[in-house]
Amino acid sequence: MKRTSVCIIGAGPSGITAAIYLKRANIPFIFFEKNMPGGKIPLTSRIDNYPGFINGDGVTLALQMIEQLNKNEIEVTYEEVHSVYKKDDIFIVESSKDMYECTYVILATGTKERKLGLKEEDKYLNKGISFCAICDGALYKNKDVALIGGGNSALEEALYLSSIVNKVYLIHRRNEFRGESLLLDRVKKQDNIIIYTPYVIKNIFGEDRVESIIISSLEKEIELKVSGIFIYIGMNPSLEIIKDQIEIDNGYALVNEDMMTSLTNLYAIGDVRKKSLRQIVTAVNDGAIASDSISRLIHHG
Ligand code: NAP
Repeated sequence: MKRTSVCIIGAGPSGITAAIYLKRANIPFIFFEKNMPGGKIPLTSRIDNYPGFINGDGVTLALQMIEQLNKNEIEVTYEEVHSVYKKDDIFIVESSKDMYECTYVILATGTKERKLGLKEEDKYLNKGISFCAICDGALYKNKDVALIGGGNSALEEALYLSSIVNKVYLIHRRNEFRGESLLLDRVKKQDNIIIYTPYVIKNIFGEDRVESIIISSLEKEIELKVSGIFIYIGMNPSLEIIKDQIEIDNGYALVNEDMMTSLTNLYAIGDVRKKSLRQIVTAVNDGAIASDSISRLIHHG
């Protein structure tokens, strides 16, 4: 069993910020990540609303954050955390490889993509169905694709795909979009993005891969020939590892102004916590506050 002061779980922008602040406060920590640091940033085609980062793509910003970790000599432990529980006043963190003891835990586990819930969804996963335009967009060069969703992610990724594919059918279940109006204006100006509202996807067809879909509204059904379906219908918080030990609201962790959850010394930051705005700028804010709070507790009691 390894022992440290803080375990940070998740290396998205909130976790990375928490790590940088702990390092600067000279507090020992272990920083867990199961994939690549950066969270959803490298999967985002364009980032226009993070001050100081102009006209950049997500991969560039993620690489800059990784470079900053390296410059600060912050090590990432590439292990998946399976569970976190408290025994007396100490947290036990169980990963795929080892067990760790820490006094404080910072959960920065983010969110996972929501699925449509259609019975054909699993059959066509990676055979036409994708949750990541930046990863898979190039596979659909000059082809027609459908993109489902009405939030910022759907609008941003529809714009991104429109520069690669022939046509993007943007399908949203309501007439009003949840995403920013500036993005919606840009989508509407794009000739090869065809908007269908209020429509839902009803069926997916194809021999081995996606070949067509049926979308339906109250009035009618339409068949669209598409080679790909990109799903951007929101996220579910990733809190499985802590299960029922903290108070939640609609699945998201409730925290106080220091980012501490209802379980003393367990913090939740970034997209996994209840908040009204989920963006990089609010994620890094959370990471700074959590680490500063822990630092004050350690240094001043
Ligand atoms: P989101 O904002 O929650 O939007 C999800 C969209 O999917 C909504 O339009 C929703 O419709 C629709 N939807 C949900 N369930 C559905 C279903 N079963 N079938 C069909 N449609 C369904 O999710 P997101 O776009 O992934 O964004 C997640 C968070 O990250 C948001 O807080 C967002 O603002 C933030 N984000 C920010 C930026 C940025 O700052 N540029 C970029 C990306 C994401 P309804 O509207 O009818 O509910």
